Amino acid sequence: DSDPPLAKLLDASKHAGNGTRKSAESVVYWMRMGDLRISDNRALSLASAHAKKNKLPLVSLFVLNPQDYKAHDRSARRIDFTLRNLASIKDSLAKLHIPLYTITHPKRREIPGQIITFLEQLNASAVYANIEYEVDELRRDIQICKAAKSKGFGAHFVHDKCVVEPGVVLTKENRTYAVYSPYQRAWIKKLNANIPHFLEDCQEPHPNPQSVYENKNIKDLFNSQVPQSIPGFELDPDDRKRMDLAWPAGEIAANEMLRRFLHTKSRTSQMVPSNPLADGAEDSPKHSRLTAYDADRDNADKDTTSRLSPYLAAGIISARACIRATMPSTKNAHVESGRWVQEIAWRDFYVCILAGYPRVSMGRPYQEKSADIVWEGPALDNAYTDGEQQINPKAELPLTTSESNIEKWKSGQTGYPIVDAGMRCVKETGYLHNRVRMICAMFLVKHLMIDWRVGEKYFMENLIDGDLASNNGGWQWVASTGVDACPYFRIFNPYNQSSKADPTGEFIRHFVPELARARGPELHNPPASVADKLKYPHPIVKHEESRDRAIRRFKNPGTA
Ligand code: FAD
Repeated sequence: DSDPPLAKLLDASKHAGNGTRKSAESVVYWMRMGDLRISDNRALSLASAHAKKNKLPLVSLFVLNPQDYKAHDRSARRIDFTLRNLASIKDSLAKLHIPLYTITHPKRREIPGQIITFLEQLNASAVYANIEYEVDELRRDIQICKAAKSKGFGAHFVHDKCVVEPGVVLTKENRTYAVYSPYQRAWIKKLNANIPHFLEDCQEPHPNPQSVYENKNIKDLFNSQVPQSIPGFELDPDDRKRMDLAWPAGEIAANEMLRRFLHTKSRTSQMVPSNPLADGAEDSPKHSRLTAYDADRDNADKDTTSRLSPYLAAGIISARACIRATMPSTKNAHVESGRWVQEIAWRDFYVCILAGYPRVSMGRPYQEKSADIVWEGPALDNAYTDGEQQINPKAELPLTTSESNIEKWKSGQTGYPIVDAGMRCVKETGYLHNRVRMICAMFLVKHLMIDWRVGEKYFMENLIDGDLASNNGGWQWVASTGVDACPYFRIFNPYNQSSKADPTGEFIRHFVPELARARGPELHNPPASVADKLKYPHPIVKHEESRDRAIRRFKNPGTA
């Protein structure tokens, strides 16, 4: 942790060439999975300014890397969302005469060499990219900086993902904050002290001159096609249709989603909109989802939150734009630290944790002492494989209790209605309300005593908003292994949580239709006779017993 790779990358980027090679013929913007937009995009804007100043054409590049997606447990939904957005970006860039050259490269290790070859072929002056904070990505970019320096290219890696970038909000001892509340207070102070810097709306890219179509190095790049799918990450056609409707691609859709949150009221009947942009929500600036957020955000039975996470994770809208939109004006204005703004600060916080303590992304708990907690079921090594997780590789063997519990958790058959509704929601929609994410995650870790990394991986493989920093942060929070985590003895009672998160029962009824006729407390905790009648499973574990076991094991790591 003493010299995190982010510091090394920033240093390497500073010392790479300055990108003023005399004979240069182009400038390259390398788009990544987390910055799929044209507006308010730092690296793109800087690359474009460099190109304009030096009268060079701008080229954009995207590297599709299935091996990388596998290693990061990327969901087919997230990959499909990436491809749909790339197709839309390609069209928008083409209007500016800027090609989006997409290459598919199967070997992670060869990417730095591939990028350098591309820069050489284009005789580029420099490459610009927004920083990806995952460790492997930082190491890859350090290699690129080193190679660029030796070849005389500029290599500019810049912060873009967060509102306040990692390294700015630090404790008195100059360390990364490991507790959220003081971080958030310092975050808002820093932000308000320099709004023009942190909330800068980056310049849109300038169009390339028409002559770019005659440029022998560049003209063919316009013919590159964004693939429809990537082998190993194909979505079945029905799921693709559902995703397309629920999470439409493109910056216009992302902005519309933001507008919907800021200016329209939620409608209870639309708690899980299959087509949010066509739900007929009425404009109501005084009683919008934003103004009701503080009171309503924990209710999973209403569609009250922004649903922007897939767009923020893929960078289809910038976090800066989200904050700007909550302000009357950015001139001499002040960001109010309302609840929703604080959620964006959580997002920044977890990126800072990932950058400051990179071990959390390598399967390690932030609190090392919790590495010895005794889990039920598959060992840690099993949860971290480069390929498919084989829960039961020998199909003829019966599942062990923990394997069978994991399967029941994933398929929503635990006998705990709120957990089952949540897990079926993940499967069906690729998304889950924050409070129910916490309930489902805590149930796996504390009630079933399954290693949190099993759940972390499953969420990544299924969510459309899967993001390493937020997902890891969320899982380590519920598992009491992370920074500022939930104390190990504070174990959610799933029945009480259920009545609080789903007071009308709409959420459970929607995703667990067998319980549609259950009423009142019976919906949240069906008695055995009701469960039998409705063909709903009995609870796979008992709440009190499981809670006591978890407290025992967390209190004494290393003992069962
Ligand atoms: P809103 O309530 O409208 O919040 C606005 C934005 O703030 C979100 O879009 C998100 O970018 C950010 N945000 C909100 N809550 C959090 C939080 N707790 N941590 C970090 N950022 C937050 N979020 C992801 O984006 N990707 C993940 O992979 C992910 N995995 C999670 C796993 C677990 C176990 C838990 C408990 C939480 C996870 N979250 C994750 C955080 C949170 O659940 C989602 O961001 C939120 O539910 C998205 O809904 P929304 O866009 O309507 O959020």
